[in-house]
Amino acid sequence: MFDLAIKSDRIITPSGIRKGIVLVKEGRIVDIVNEIPAGDFPVTDIGKKVLMPGIIDPHVHINEPGHTDWEGFDTATRSAIAGGITSLVDMPLNSLPVTTTIKAFDEKIGSTRAQLHTNCGFWGGVIPGNEKDIEPLIEKGVLGFKAFLVHSGIDEFPNVTEDDLRHSMPLIAKHDLPLLVHCELSGPTHDSRLTPHVSYQYYLDSRPKEWEDKAISLMIRLCEEFNCRTHIVHLSSAHSIEQITKAKQRGLPITVETCQHYLYFSAEQIEDGQTQFKCAPPIRGKENNELLWRALKDGIIDYVATDHSPAPPAMKELDSGDFMKAWGGISSIQFALPVLWTAAKKHGCELADITRWLCENSSVVPGLEESKGKIAKGYDADFVVWDPEKNFTVIKDMIHHRHKITPYLGEQLYGSVMQTYLAGEKIYDEGKFLHLNRGKIILA
Ligand SMILES: [Zn+2]
Repeated sequence: MFDLAIKSDRIITPSGIRKGIVLVKEGRIVDIVNEIPAGDFPVTDIGKKVLMPGIIDPHVHINEPGHTDWEGFDTATRSAIAGGITSLVDMPLNSLPVTTTIKAFDEKIGSTRAQLHTNCGFWGGVIPGNEKDIEPLIEKGVLGFKAFLVHSGIDEFPNVTEDDLRHSMPLIAKHDLPLLVHCELSGPTHDSRLTPHVSYQYYLDSRPKEWEDKAISLMIRLCEEFNCRTHIVHLSSAHSIEQITKAKQRGLPITVETCQHYLYFSAEQIEDGQTQFKCAPPIRGKENNELLWRALKDGIIDYVATDHSPAPPAMKELDSGDFMKAWGGISSIQFALPVLWTAAKKHGCELADITRWLCENSSVVPGLEESKGKIAKGYDADFVVWDPEKNFTVIKDMIHHRHKITPYLGEQLYGSVMQTYLAGEKIYDEGKFLHLNRGKIILA
């Protein structure tokens, strides 16, 4: 017998949108059928609301342990399930310690105890001199590694050089795990922290597209040389689309993500002093961002991740409006789906596109594609039920992030998350958390 059946007019499956009933047993999808089978089991009819696979967000900064006052497992994973995100992968920085050793990894796991509300995997960190930690971290179950080519904003997580990568990439390639890279290679800079800079244009000019383009071309070269799975996080420079396209055409194991904020906002909308928009690389002009949309539709950009990266209000420098001093990071995990859907609708995209970018394709880099990201037989029964036609305005009271600062405050968004299911259990229902601490730790 089944544990649960969910009936919907709009089930998003890999082969299209269909009417039907999804049958669930022991946390997995058993079948998708046209008629409710005979037997005694609960049936939930969600009518025209969309049944989509739970969202997978492979780029989240939870910051615990050590910086729980920035964001922690409790608040981040509550926000995640309120946003329909059923699996996420935590970045190896901005917690303290950073996840670059097995000792730090154990502390990370320990800090999830009794407050993990969604499934969570972990990226390990590559920093200069930690080659010896790479294989032990793999042994522990990290899903891959993250490195920076420019200062990360955190002194404990220094950036690597080409020479460092030459030591670590063969080890990562040997285990067929991905290396995620923050691609910016800085040119000459002056210390702009000495004078306040409220101008967004000043900030934008301080991190030009060329920084990204140079770094991406380095990573394409190393990807080819070491045959190491290479993933470019948060692509913002449309200049690089051509070199990425060529690398993919040559069959290199390279993947690319962009973030909701590069697709939803553009530099023209950002007023001076609005540091809630600061992230790195920066949100660029409209013309650039339309090219990112094109690349996403063409499959050159594989998926969309939030890069949820909060900090306490004082660090966002909203009072001074100083872009050069403010923390670079945008808080957004709870609104991943409605933000992307609102922008996607304007670009003529459909529900199947959203599902590909938030669920199917984003399952692959963390290695979850065998069990998550699709509504299909044998897959995990992680779902989000949502209403694409319903709109709402983002207000502070609805935000579950530790801090309520987000550039989406006051935005009117389409796509309301109604329910979230984890392993066949309804854990979130229209603002109410029905079951907490149901998340599982995902190890490779
Ligand atoms: Zn990030």
